[in-house]
Order: sequence, then structure tokens, then C-alpha cells
Amino acid sequence: MASRRRPEAAVPPVAGDAPKLGACPICGRPAVAASRPFCSPRCRDVDLHRWLTGAYAVPVVEEDGGEDGEGGEH
Ligand SMILES: [Zn+2]
Repeated sequence: MASRRRPEAAVPPVAGDAPKLGACPICGRPAVAASRPFCSPRCRDVDLHRWLTGAYAVPVVEEDGGEDGEGGEH
């Protein structure tokens, strides 16, 4: 009986392949894991505020004229 040697799939340990956090979208500094993708909670807050204000600045497209066919005679 031949002993079958089953080669165990030994996955080589990944040596120091930490994912890059990238740069802070606010100030461009290297982001930290604590407050990624920003470099600091401050930038995160800035981005949040910017996002909120930007959201308010976005013109809301209201759907009008769906069934309100005024003069829409084909
Ligand atoms: Zn920053």
C-alpha cells in the first residue's frame, strides 16, 4: 500500500503586505487606519460637513409633468 503523501497547501505567509490607506481626500496627507480614509477625525468631520452642504446644494429634481399633461397634445 503506497502511502499517498498529500501535499498540504501551505500558503506562504504574506510578509508585510498591508493595504495602503491612500491619501486623505481633504488635505492629501497619508490617511490613518483610525479615521480612514482621512488622516484625522477633523478631516473626516470636514468631509462630512462638506458632504452635507453639498447635498443641500444639489438641486432636487422633482418629478413634475408626469400626468400633468398641459398642452401635451401630440
Ligand atoms: Zn486630512
